[in-house]
Amino acid sequence: NIKLSEKNQKIAASVTLAIDSKAKQMQAEGINVISFGVGEPDFNTPDHIKKAAIEAMDKGITRYTAASGLPKFREAICTKLKEDNGVEYTPDQIVVSNGAKQSLFNSLQAICNPGDEVIVPVPYWVSYVELVKMADAVPVFVESTEATEFKIRKEDLLAAITPKTKALLLNSPSNPTGSLYTREELEAIAEVAVEKNIIIIADEIYEKLAYDGAEHISIASLNEKIKDLTIIINGMSKAYAMTGWRIGYTASNSQIAKIMGNYQSHATSHPNTIAQYASIEALLGDQTPVEDMRQAFDERRKFMVERINSIDNISCITPKGAFYVMMNITQLMGKEIKGRKINGSMDFASLILEEGNVALVPGVAFGIEGFVRLSYANSIENIKEGLNRIEAIIKA
Ligand code: PLP
Repeated sequence: NIKLSEKNQKIAASVTLAIDSKAKQMQAEGINVISFGVGEPDFNTPDHIKKAAIEAMDKGITRYTAASGLPKFREAICTKLKEDNGVEYTPDQIVVSNGAKQSLFNSLQAICNPGDEVIVPVPYWVSYVELVKMADAVPVFVESTEATEFKIRKEDLLAAITPKTKALLLNSPSNPTGSLYTREELEAIAEVAVEKNIIIIADEIYEKLAYDGAEHISIASLNEKIKDLTIIINGMSKAYAMTGWRIGYTASNSQIAKIMGNYQSHATSHPNTIAQYASIEALLGDQTPVEDMRQAFDERRKFMVERINSIDNISCITPKGAFYVMMNITQLMGKEIKGRKINGSMDFASLILEEGNVALVPGVAFGIEGFVRLSYANSIENIKEGLNRIEAIIKA
């Protein structure tokens, strides 16, 4: 009966875990489960990136690096940020971490004091809320709807700001909605942030996955004032199919970067040295695999959106980025399907998993009801089969 950390015992396990572990258990039992739950590319890391890792090992480059990351890699990140995003940083403003998740964690630890408020647009990526709480800050939710393509507007942001507001977590392209903010929309948000002196934590991990000619804009690129207030979060996971390599990074003003670097130096040191070498090759080497993957995702996206909208009682808007679709199931709320009452997205996800062997993530996991998230990081065949199964159940 030792008294454990009160604060940390309150950190919730991910809601998605329940569905995920059930799906895995079914798979282990030999059931053909189609998973639309996954949050990672189904492609392998491109060969030239893997080769760079092997070369680093063969050369014996396997030791500690600087806590904030290899200087050469931080220079490569500066080159990338300048060329892709039109923002100039120096290597001392870059901190390399164990995935964008640790970058988000470091950012919130660096800027928050107890009771500070961090604005989280809804629907949100599951970890945002817990990461804010881990920094002793308070998440303040700003709702968005399908009508605004799940994007918050300037007036929504203004209404949520209090004297305690420290930051806004902005994710574009977004997980779970796939929405992508336009330059004009970002300008409106930046204007508020500069006026109210609010930090923008700009999670740009899905930047390479934009469709229909939509362009990813980094909010930091708009002007010097907003750049100084922005912490860019990015990483290798989604663009280069490198989820398991665990490399993410931040770009921020030097003061914030220094705090994060010091913090990380005691917590985890630097991320894996070999993975950092591979990441230099990923950023500076051949970019064709990135475009090939984007095109494959695009094809699946179009197929999934069209197919969902061909089924009665469910629908979706066309996402412009990432690899997720938010499927609207409000027409089914309160209905009975296969003898089961559908009172919420969790009921729907359970029904589809148990009756159709298809895994979806309920909207409640992202703070929204009446929707489920489908990932199209899956083959066209599986997408086809999975949606056929969903249709059969809904028609029942
Ligand atoms: N941010 C968003 C919105 C994500 O969806 C993810 C992964 O699912 C991450 C950050 C974390 O990526 P990683 O830690 O693999 O770099």
